[in-house]
Amino acid sequence: KFSRVLKKIAKDEVLNISEIKTLLKANRESELEALFLAANRIREEAVKDTVDVRAAIEFSNYCHKNCNYCGLRRENKNLTRYRMTEDEIIKVTKEIYELGIETVILQSGEDPWYTTDKIVKIIRRIKEEFGMKITLSLGERTKKEYKVFKEAGADNYLLKIEAANKDLFNQIHPDDNYEVRSKHTKWLKELGYITGSGGMIGLPSQSIEDLAKDILFQKKYGIHMIGVGPFLPANNTPYAEYKSGDLITTLKVVAVMRLVCQNVFIPATTAIASLDSEGQEKALESGANVIMLIMTPPQLRENYEIYSNKNMVDLDWAVESIMAANRKIPEYLNLDKLNRIDRSEVDAR
Ligand code: SAM
Ligand code: SF4
Repeated sequence: KFSRVLKKIAKDEVLNISEIKTLLKANRESELEALFLAANRIREEAVKDTVDVRAAIEFSNYCHKNCNYCGLRRENKNLTRYRMTEDEIIKVTKEIYELGIETVILQSGEDPWYTTDKIVKIIRRIKEEFGMKITLSLGERTKKEYKVFKEAGADNYLLKIEAANKDLFNQIHPDDNYEVRSKHTKWLKELGYITGSGGMIGLPSQSIEDLAKDILFQKKYGIHMIGVGPFLPANNTPYAEYKSGDLITTLKVVAVMRLVCQNVFIPATTAIASLDSEGQEKALESGANVIMLIMTPPQLRENYEIYSNKNMVDLDWAVESIMAANRKIPEYLNLDKLNRIDRSEVDAR
């Protein structure tokens, strides 16, 4: 059955949910190998050999929401909260620009302190001073705000569905609603954003069927950047005692996502790097083609604790993972800026 589904992909046929489940259930060594090889081949055909490198600034860890899985949730009183000023954000963006990186991701908790005007000012300055591509990841905002940000120069918006099973979505999000999140995803697309979504693997009570739905959701909404990573428990949250998503299931979802969605960007996420020190390299070999560096200033970084034991992904780490996966370092990177760090030290962080 498994080989029959893989053959369908080779013939460019569309998979249904039960076929996607068959692929996700692969567990024999030979099946896993065939699945990852197939995903790697489609990745090569669709998006070539270069790994795209983007950089994120996690500029505020204040959040007015209370997502059950996330360490930034408002009821977590054990977190030192911070907000970066416009000038601080611009300063870090300049460092990213000087590394040659072309896309900056501005991410935060849902923090209304950053009003429409404040975000617009930041977008305009980045466009004027550096001409970089801007990805916003600010959580849910109003349709009007999405429009104003787009007109100011934002290119991409990253708003994950997290779980495409409606009941599971509602269970993990006390302040959110599945229909609303789907509607926002649709708005972002209509407004001309390059859209990002994705989800977590290994959420409590999540089934293989749920993961198959996650994959079909991305396909249905024409998502361009699909971030999938393991759920990782965060201290001081209702899910602190749950176990992490596992690496093999995560890699299978990455691979099947590539096989189903084909010409898309799939990051080897920080969450995968946090689960396994070779996780990013393995994800790159299973269909992923993007690495997101974390460029949040070091003194703030440890407070952006969305989950516990978060790994740091810097340029040095990214280059090592890209080389280990035998893939091309993008030409735009300024590798003279690379700070070589002893790998043993990196692993210990
Ligand atoms: N507040 C914005 C939002 O929710 O879209 C952006 C920041 S939020 C921290 C970014 C992403 O972190 C979420 O989309 C979610 O997938 C991920 N995340 C949060 N808690 C996590 C956890 N415990 N394990 C894995 N990923 C997590
Ligand atoms: Fe806030 Fe985003 Fe974390 Fe939810 S996932 S608590 S919205 S930062």
